[in-house]
Amino acid sequence: MADTTKPNVGYDDTPIIPGSCWRVHDGKRPQPRVVLPGTCSTQASVGLPPSDAIVLFDGRDLANWFNKDGAAAEWKVENGYMEVVPGKGDIRTKAEFGDCQLHVEWAEPEVVKGDSQGRGNSGVFVLGMYEIQVLDCYQNPTYPDGTTGAIYGQCPPLVNACRKPGEWQTYDIVWIGPRFAGDRLVSPAYLTVFQNGVLLHLMKEVQGPTQHRTTTAYKAHALTGPLKLQDHNDLVRFRNLWYRPLTAYDQLAPG
Ligand code: MG
Repeated sequence: MADTTKPNVGYDDTPIIPGSCWRVHDGKRPQPRVVLPGTCSTQASVGLPPSDAIVLFDGRDLANWFNKDGAAAEWKVENGYMEVVPGKGDIRTKAEFGDCQLHVEWAEPEVVKGDSQGRGNSGVFVLGMYEIQVLDCYQNPTYPDGTTGAIYGQCPPLVNACRKPGEWQTYDIVWIGPRFAGDRLVSPAYLTVFQNGVLLHLMKEVQGPTQHRTTTAYKAHALTGPLKLQDHNDLVRFRNLWYRPLTAYDQLAPG
């Protein structure tokens, strides 16, 4: 295997790139860490996560999940997915994490029931408190800041990219959390979201934790928290959940 720590490529007679300590084409600049990419899911089969992803649900059990009281999560697990059991409550990961790339797959009930917010409602709550709405908005209008992929109560998605009920759909999310200095907000959270490969939000500023029927504001909190999935009494399914912590540029490979 090539020794990538040796400056065997590049230039040492070029100008320094502004804002960095590296020359243009500097061969000594740290190599990007190697990640083996995963594979995409299809309707019939689940893809593989990238090699450095931390898997939150692999289709087998809910060992990595709690219910809202910190006891064992009681949603149904079968055929490689989990499904909301109405009344069993929201569930959350045991893992707590912050800035990340997050992958979620979900499917709405094939049997269409209800309308507006009553059709296939669930939610992906980053840090347990910032909801990206999960809803069946395939030919189902609702208030735009509560539609599929909305930053709930704050901002509708750029487009409606819903597949038909019963089909597997994906969210690929980049979460950059808020920063606080003591009680003071230094910078808000930002969300980038793709649904089924279609851009819904690009570095959209988040105004604070999710609220219903009112506005929101930040209160200082930790940089990390669990991922929460919502029990809104609809039989929504999830599979293939994983995240990758965001890392800095020019980070040396471990070891
Ligand atoms: Mg919801």
